[in-house]
Amino acid sequence: MQTCPNCSSDVFVKAGILNNRQRYKCKSCGYYFTVGKLGKRIDDYYVNKALQLYLEGLTYREIERILGVSHVSVMNWVRKYNIKRPYRTKYHPTYKILSHTELGAYFSEQENIKGAGVLVTELGDKFMLIKWERFRD
Ligand SMILES: [Zn+2]
Repeated sequence: MQTCPNCSSDVFVKAGILNNRQRYKCKSCGYYFTVGKLGKRIDDYYVNKALQLYLEGLTYREIERILGVSHVSVMNWVRKYNIKRPYRTKYHPTYKILSHTELGAYFSEQENIKGAGVLVTELGDKFMLIKWERFRD
């Protein structure tokens, strides 16, 4: 099944012929592409990561900054997969992108993880650390 190379949406319309190939316009993000083109395709890995971050309470813009995918794409994925956040938390998470060495140093300081919840996921060649300071107030 063909999907938009920019946002993975499968809703697109015909938009003329270019170099003897059918051209399409994505209805979700407005990206033009031709079928068969080896465009910049967003890996499912980033779709999963984006939805994960969304569920963890981050905003679309924050997800855009962290993953380098447009916030429009993230919004489309949230809609496409019908992701709903169960509730609004009072505490907003903070996040850091750390190398393996930095990650080790971070955890060796007790103050950094005291009274907090921490989640670490791999992100490319680095690690993303999301932290909720739940008990601070
Ligand atoms: Zn698109």
